[in-house]
Amino acid sequence: MQQRGFIDYTFQRRAVLRELAEGRRTRDEVCDAQAYLKQAAAYHGDPTDRDCPVCGRHRVDLVHYVFGDRWKIGSGQAKTARQIMEMAPITSEFSVYVVEVCRGCGWNHLLESFVTGIELPPRTRKRRRGPAPPDVAVDLNDL
Ligand SMILES: [Zn+2]
Repeated sequence: MQQRGFIDYTFQRRAVLRELAEGRRTRDEVCDAQAYLKQAAAYHGDPTDRDCPVCGRHRVDLVHYVFGDRWKIGSGQAKTARQIMEMAPITSEFSVYVVEVCRGCGWNHLLESFVTGIELPPRTRKRRRGPAPPDVAVDLNDL
């Protein structure tokens, strides 16, 4: 699967965890997963073998949110990594945001984002070819 515009958020994640360890953030602040995010993790998440960095008692799940600028429906839905692999070759360009979620304590953080799917041609202004049309003002009352 082709990935473009990859952004890694592990630096920000580490900073949040450091602030928690130093007491500059509370556990309530960083473990604020809403019910819908925990549900997304349960039904559309990919389990990992990584322990939650906050509670250490549960494994984190990865939730992939997809956003298509030109999609009429489906933007903002949670998908599994496998679904994204299947979508990428047959779907117009979309962004994927991968969120790490602990269903135990509610820890959640964005891990990475990227763009995949069928690349759209860049939006360019159409150039006029040939001579410009004659500059004739037409008064609608004359028609
Ligand atoms: Zn946890």
